Amino acid sequence: MLDRKHFKRDSQPVIKWIDQYLREIQKYPVKSQVKPGDIKGRIPLKMPEQGEDISTILGDFEQLILPGVTHWQHPNFHAYFNANSSTESILAEMITAALGTQCMIWETSPAAAELEERMMDWFKVAFGLPKKWEGVIHDTASTASLTAIITAREVATGFRSNDHGVPNNLRIYCSSETHSSIEKAAGIAGIGRNNVIKIEVDHQRRIIPSALESAIKDDLVSDKTPCIVIVTLGTTGTMAIDSVEAVASICKKYGIWLHVDAAYAGSALLLPEYKWMIDGVNNVDSFVFNPHKWLFTNFDCTIYFVKNADLLIKTFEILPEYLKTGTRGQVNDYRDWGIQLGRRFRALKLWFVLRSYGLHGLREKIRHHIRLSQHFVKWVEGNADLEMVTTPILNYCCFRHNPSGKEMSLEALNKINEVLLKN
Ligand SMILES: *Cc1c(COP(=O)(O)O)cnc(C)c1O
Repeated sequence: MLDRKHFKRDSQPVIKWIDQYLREIQKYPVKSQVKPGDIKGRIPLKMPEQGEDISTILGDFEQLILPGVTHWQHPNFHAYFNANSSTESILAEMITAALGTQCMIWETSPAAAELEERMMDWFKVAFGLPKKWEGVIHDTASTASLTAIITAREVATGFRSNDHGVPNNLRIYCSSETHSSIEKAAGIAGIGRNNVIKIEVDHQRRIIPSALESAIKDDLVSDKTPCIVIVTLGTTGTMAIDSVEAVASICKKYGIWLHVDAAYAGSALLLPEYKWMIDGVNNVDSFVFNPHKWLFTNFDCTIYFVKNADLLIKTFEILPEYLKTGTRGQVNDYRDWGIQLGRRFRALKLWFVLRSYGLHGLREKIRHHIRLSQHFVKWVEGNADLEMVTTPILNYCCFRHNPSGKEMSLEALNKINEVLLKN
């Protein structure tokens, strides 16, 4: 067991290790080379009876654990999404761990609640979101979208579902390219995965607004209740940007909740040249984006905005005796803004990152990433054996191998690209 008195001494080897790891990260294979069960097999079945020395534990971390780590900070990591963990966010996470605060209500840490509120204000201004919107930090976009779906469910059922259960005629609409977290949330919210209506997409894989409207009309004549529409800014498959404006006018016409999933692409809203992505935002009800994807903040950190915080709070608040406080109503008690009671102090790392980079620095970094990808697009276009699959956007380029001079069926093309992807 370590003695707190020696924190400085005991932390040195860890700080040194982190420094060396980040400097020499390129020497590791990006993807862990272990086989299923390899790591588990090296860890004893039972916890140790007697405490062990911290240097032994650290040594074992390098020997036993590290080979089973895939290095997300590696410059050659190109899977899923970039998950940039900046020095600022690492340092702030250390302080967060030291504070060990539970940010469930204002009184359990007033600074955590008020800094969170202010960070939401910063993003609201920087993104150009409506002034009346309010925000909260969640762990993931999956949680935020579930929160949106549950709130929309309550609104659509006159706030009866929390108490009486969910009727079986609610409908959720999104495109066929929407992230799987929506279908998962539909199940968890009790609406049912079969009530997720996947709307057709156009050649750029964006939702077709007229197809959405016909689906809604069909449902209305068969006694279904439209509950929520989800549009995506930056789909996971091809970074398609659905039209917020076109869908918002349909949602307004039929009185349906509109949720915007900008988990990945949201960071680009810091750039004036990408603000068109949220044209029509005044008619949006909720919005999610992940600083833990493309805003230099280590996992986890998701920002969730709502047009009307009262509806969110009415859906999630519950007030047992032990959570009653004298400040209720004057402050934000964020436990009422989502699923969790206990919450991490995530605003601190955002504050570190946003202040250290500054808006200018963030914009420059994001623009730099976009330029790098435009450069990459030129390489792809200049290579006779490669072709673009969708129009490149942001820092995203969707391409495939298509050997020149060979006529290949789509099936054969898919096969060779699958082999490429897996190797
Ligand atoms: C990454 C992503 C999600 C899921 O994010 P988590 O924070 O891992 O839950 C949802 N939607 C889109 C568009 C995403 O890019």
